Amino acid sequence: MEKSPIIMWFRRDLRLGDHQALTAVCESGRPVIPVFIHDDIVAGHGAAPKFRLGLSVADLARSLDAKGSRLILRKGSALDVLRKLIADTGAGAVYWSRLYDPDNRARDTDVKAALKSDGIVVQSFAGHVLFEPWTVETKTGGFYKVFTPMWKSVRDNHVPAALPTPGQITAPDSWPASDSLDDWRMGAAMRRGADILASHCTVGEAAAASRLGAFIAHRVQSYQKNRDLPAVDGTSRLSENLTYGEISPRVCWHAGWRALHDDKADAEVFLKELVWREFAYHLAFHTPRIVHDNWKEDWDAFPWNTDERLAGVTSWKQGRTGIQFVDAAMREMYVTGTMHNRGRMIVASYLTKHLLTHWKIGMNWFADCLIDWDPCSNAMGWQWSAGSGPDATLYFRVFNPVTQLDKFDKDRAYVQRWLAEPFSKPSATALSYYDMIPRSWGMSPNDPYPDPVVAADVGRKRALDAYETRGF
Ligand code: FAD
Repeated sequence: MEKSPIIMWFRRDLRLGDHQALTAVCESGRPVIPVFIHDDIVAGHGAAPKFRLGLSVADLARSLDAKGSRLILRKGSALDVLRKLIADTGAGAVYWSRLYDPDNRARDTDVKAALKSDGIVVQSFAGHVLFEPWTVETKTGGFYKVFTPMWKSVRDNHVPAALPTPGQITAPDSWPASDSLDDWRMGAAMRRGADILASHCTVGEAAAASRLGAFIAHRVQSYQKNRDLPAVDGTSRLSENLTYGEISPRVCWHAGWRALHDDKADAEVFLKELVWREFAYHLAFHTPRIVHDNWKEDWDAFPWNTDERLAGVTSWKQGRTGIQFVDAAMREMYVTGTMHNRGRMIVASYLTKHLLTHWKIGMNWFADCLIDWDPCSNAMGWQWSAGSGPDATLYFRVFNPVTQLDKFDKDRAYVQRWLAEPFSKPSATALSYYDMIPRSWGMSPNDPYPDPVVAADVGRKRALDAYETRGF
């Protein structure tokens, strides 16, 4: 019987529970060498997601320690690291959970081919999505390009029960060397903001499970109404945990279904949102260009501003456009690393329509600031907002950030939470923004609140004129 160790390569699956690859390794009875690799893909993370990823890796390391195992950390190209680790340990196999965005897929394809040619067994497993992209097809074949039919087709699909946490993770006779996580300086690009951001993070498998439990117990029954109100704690906030795999989508799915069976009708909307996440992965798998280029190619001719230095773009990033909803949401993201979904739609619409700026500039800024950054959901969200994506909002539907505020933040609780200048006694959260931003931005809570860089009605007309001129 094969006795050599198996390397369990963790990536965006930083948990022990409901982990198909880890369960398979443990069931083999062979020693397990868990590894996390700081490769080019990790190095390329933006400031906030990289910092947050470091917290998640630390949490996984603690969970493995508690099981008598260990997380080995190595830096370098994934293939070189795995080959070296195989040489160091005599491992005969490498297991991992599959990912679906173009960068991770390209790397995994190369690593798999190279290791197989070395005579190493490579096995990959599902786990990051409910339905793998090649398992869902329209009636006429091919993948779904529109969300609602996809939702209807998968809603009642069988989803296997979640797997328990392995009871035992067999350790090797001796452990290979590991880097120190501190030496990786995952928070280096955060500069002075790391401590504040950390206070807004909910890290790790246990915390994610409690978060899901609290949402299902107290909030899912009012999800439909409250999910649109940015001042209300009405959503699950699980995107932060799902993106690093601290919780599996099927644990969330089954919790949603149980709530639905308990007559919490709004749980259906939650299930639907989980399928939006699936939709994003399916699109990135079948049309990888979505993460880099206009999904609808006729948008290539649209004369978007691509100059990041444009004054309006800087104001947008710094949360001082003079449009309260936009500024509040941009500051929420800078401080907490997350932004309410309504805010994401409003700021994306303002950048791409009022400021006629390319969605990629917004997508990249989000990728630097979000602790729930996900390459597929972020790209889909931006292209949806800009009008260039699949099943996108109609290009001529320009969100009015002023009337949206009246509708979704009537009493201005959200604005008060995140803006200081308009108020004589700013809230602590609004003031925390100034402790976090670079001093070079030269912002103070005592500044007068700026006039709009582009007023809501002016920007709308300008966008509609631009679409008309281009024959859209
Ligand atoms: P809930 O309302 O509780 O929903 C439950 C889960 O469903 C979420 O955790 C998430 O995994 C999934 N989900 C919900 N809405 C969407 C959606 N529209 N698209 C894909 N999945 C969804 N989500 C990310 O996870 N990472 C991103 O980088 C990201 N970037 C976005 C950029 C833009 C411009 C837009 C418009 C949306 C983006 N989203 C992104 C989607 C959405 O805003 C977040 O998933 C949501 O706000 C997370 O909050 P929550 O966990 O409380 O969600």
